[in-house]
Amino acid sequence: METAVSHARTQYDQYLEQLLELLRIPSVSALPEHRSDIQRAADWLAADMRRIGLEHVQVIGTAGNPVVYGDWLHAGEGAYTALLYGHYDVQPADPLEKWETPPFTPTIRDDKVYARGASDNKAQMFSQLKALESLLAVHGRLPVNVKVLLDGEEETGSPNLPAFVAAYKEMLQADSILISDGAMISSDQPVIEYALRGVISGEIRVSGPGRDLHSGSYGGSVHNPLQALAEIISKLHDEFGWVKIPGFYDRVVSMTAAERALLRQVPYDEAQWLAETGAPKPWGEPDYTLLERMTARPTCEINGIWGGFQGTGDKTIIPAEAGAKISMRLVANQDADEIAELFTEYVTSIAPETVRVQVTIHAGANAAVTPFDSAEIAAAMRAYKVAWGAEAVRSRAGGSLPIVVTLQRELGIPFVLMPFGLDDNRHSPNEHYHLSHFTRGIATAIHYYHYLAEA
Ligand SMILES: [Zn+2]
Repeated sequence: METAVSHARTQYDQYLEQLLELLRIPSVSALPEHRSDIQRAADWLAADMRRIGLEHVQVIGTAGNPVVYGDWLHAGEGAYTALLYGHYDVQPADPLEKWETPPFTPTIRDDKVYARGASDNKAQMFSQLKALESLLAVHGRLPVNVKVLLDGEEETGSPNLPAFVAAYKEMLQADSILISDGAMISSDQPVIEYALRGVISGEIRVSGPGRDLHSGSYGGSVHNPLQALAEIISKLHDEFGWVKIPGFYDRVVSMTAAERALLRQVPYDEAQWLAETGAPKPWGEPDYTLLERMTARPTCEINGIWGGFQGTGDKTIIPAEAGAKISMRLVANQDADEIAELFTEYVTSIAPETVRVQVTIHAGANAAVTPFDSAEIAAAMRAYKVAWGAEAVRSRAGGSLPIVVTLQRELGIPFVLMPFGLDDNRHSPNEHYHLSHFTRGIATAIHYYHYLAEA
């Protein structure tokens, strides 16, 4: 594998030039005017995949943006198969005036490449492809079978991928999923995330009188919808932060002592939390560490609340209606649909008869979890150790990646999240990627495929 790593080093200038070319394509999935750029990025990647020696390379249309697929399946009878997932679409670049250099004119400063999509996800995904290129160039083969699936709608929630995965289940069948997206803890501290939270969101609307009422004429006789909403919201948690929706925790798989010990190895403390959040003091379930509350525990958050008069000065009314947006982060084995029902039932049950309460639920996704002691994660830790010279910690992620849930549900296989990015700029102006991460990411992936074959 050293020869593949040194080959990647000798090819560095070309690999970087190719990455810059990919970054020049403004493949913004959220904006219809970039539809042809999306197609261009997909075609560009398919051509690169063919050139490096992947087979069955196709750009496959969906109801939305196309998927790029390719594979290399000659590792031998009964050989291991890894499914590499990445996405070639990017977030919109605005606000443009906040960029020091144009988002689709990749620019190198201080050993970093600045461009929209640099970190999320083009350079990370491309490191994986360049690892395959290096291995194929040097050995003419890969240590394991590899299937590559590149999504063009990740930044808009991959709306068409579940149907695609269901339709191409046979073609995508593999032993595990590999994704290089997301962030390391720092440049010196790799992390492998083995769990993602699910999410479900909705709205509570409270209405009372048919119109805003004069508080002098009717005050004292009408249950104010804003007050009723506040009463409902105040019953969502107890004073310790425990969610009071009956049944909410029934299916939650509790962490083992071994897992809690593992999470204590993740370098994260209150000082860092204070610096990150700017909040005066932590809050939440006292039995859990901050990291556990942020990643391993389910939550219920009020994201917004509205109603009544918001202008300057006074307006003495009883508002006709009020509302709140709610979202819940879920953990294994909570079911998003069931939680939605429990939430609706609970809110309805505590709703006073003096107002009308309506609950609406939006689409949700379940949590995803994979064994933290799997052979795949062990192989990834060995790979990071060689390429980064540091022991990767294993942790949970607080956020959600619905695509992992879809792939896991359809294919029933474990996943490895192998991030090479940093958390400083993704989705923001001046998005960038450290070039040292580009080379080390390629080396990590090369080692990973070897260790995977050994395991
Ligand atoms: Zn993103």
